[in-house]
Amino acid sequence: AAERTSLFIFFGGTGDLAYRKLYPSMFNLYKKGTLREHFGVIGTSREKLTDEQFQQNVLKSLGTAKTDKEAVKFVSHFGYEAHDVTDKAHYQVMKKRADEMDKKFKLNGNRIFYLSLAPSFFGTVAGYLKSEGLTDTDGFDRVVIEKPFGRDFDSAQQLNEALSKSFDEKQIFRIDHYLGKEMIQNIEAVRFGNTLVESLWNNRYIDNIQVTLSEKLGVEERASYYDNSGALRDMVQNHIMQIVSLLAMEQPVSFTDVDIRAEKVKALRSLRVYNVAEASTNFVRGQYGPGDNQRAYRDEDNVPHDSNNDTFVAGKLLFDNYRWSGTPFYIRTGKMLADKFTRVDVVFKKPLIDIFSFPQNHNAPLEANVLTMYIEPHAGFSLRLNAKTNGQGFQTKPINLDYFVDAKDSKATPEPYERLIHDVMKGDGTNFSSWQEVSYAWRFVDQIRKVWDLQKPEFPNYTPGSMGPAAADELITRDHRQWVYRL
Ligand code: NAD
Repeated sequence: AAERTSLFIFFGGTGDLAYRKLYPSMFNLYKKGTLREHFGVIGTSREKLTDEQFQQNVLKSLGTAKTDKEAVKFVSHFGYEAHDVTDKAHYQVMKKRADEMDKKFKLNGNRIFYLSLAPSFFGTVAGYLKSEGLTDTDGFDRVVIEKPFGRDFDSAQQLNEALSKSFDEKQIFRIDHYLGKEMIQNIEAVRFGNTLVESLWNNRYIDNIQVTLSEKLGVEERASYYDNSGALRDMVQNHIMQIVSLLAMEQPVSFTDVDIRAEKVKALRSLRVYNVAEASTNFVRGQYGPGDNQRAYRDEDNVPHDSNNDTFVAGKLLFDNYRWSGTPFYIRTGKMLADKFTRVDVVFKKPLIDIFSFPQNHNAPLEANVLTMYIEPHAGFSLRLNAKTNGQGFQTKPINLDYFVDAKDSKATPEPYERLIHDVMKGDGTNFSSWQEVSYAWRFVDQIRKVWDLQKPEFPNYTPGSMGPAAADELITRDHRQWVYRL
């Protein structure tokens, strides 16, 4: 890959995300040559560290031997600046440091400000970066924003207005790390690269589409954050809405960020925003109770004993457009479920006439074709077809055409953060959420939230290790359908 040039300033540079994901991803880019001579990093947080201490911490986070020559060279591009983001005067010190780095590594004034901080600081930092002149360079200035982007439409809009005072939409990169996943990007390849798929990709041939993001773990150390968020905000508003819009959108005019975003936004605009009655019937929430060797959510550390927070959501989404009218998208996500995986199941309509299942033939009715996209942990596809069983007579049975990314390729798959950081350096916003996408997603989710806030749930309502509450199954069986993945 061609070498890219930039200074990175990581705010929240001593945080969990920075050490666990961001620096190792940068190192991968270094090993591949995307970063080489002309990059510099300033880590910043309130902690007091010397450059050497910070470099040692970064080195440790890379998981290589301390003497690994490449790693040692890599961290020599790192500096540290203790900085309270609310301290306006101190941005001058940062600016000086940034200018020095720029000169030392010949960075052409290109700057990426990565805000791996509590969202309440996003506006403050963006404001001071501009007012104190850190964005005053000849090169590009880009800001990367971690999730969550607001907790409802209003707060997201305020946040966006604050950011917009300093940065244009083109300069803002809102991270949704699902968009950095190989198989999520494959949705577009499979849809728009295959006549076989795209010609059937509509309500005439598709009965329903199911998206499942299933987590096996509970809240772990993130309880205090999670209890103020819940599955609807934490997973549906961002990741699920992004996946659904890629599945539902029309073919983009070209494969560029501007054109892809335009289609995703159009899809989200035709998503039906529910009224109270629709939200109550089309969405189900859950919270896990106790299980074998597992505490109930309400008994977890840092969770109030009367918490009504949702650790599970299932819902039915309806697009009011020509392509999808009558074909629902069912979604679900939750913690403490049977297994950890993400998958999309596209269920086709059955043949209108089943000529094989006449009484003398004792043949089971034909099954629907299903295209499954396995996103993680194993990446691949499976297409279920009906075929003839071997032997006398004429019986049919479903068979699967499977393709899985092999172990070697999956080891070579870039980490989502690696890909996303690379995209920011290229200035390619394809795999980030635009403000319009974020805002339409919040408008949809807010309606569900509002209805939920008025009703007291009967929690807990599912057992760890299950696939959520019974109501999540009823949501789909009442439409005479079933979850393709079920226990
Ligand atoms: P963290 O609490 O581990 O780190 C926060 C960092 O911010 C620390 O370096 C801290 O010193 C610094 N900080 C706090 N107040 C400051 C101030 N006033 N001035 C300067 N620095 C200050 O948090 P994290 O887990 O690394 O998450 C960072 C961001 O990324 C958050 O927005 C979070 O929602 C998001 N995020 C994290 C993860 C994850 O896996 N950790 C995943 C998705 C999104």
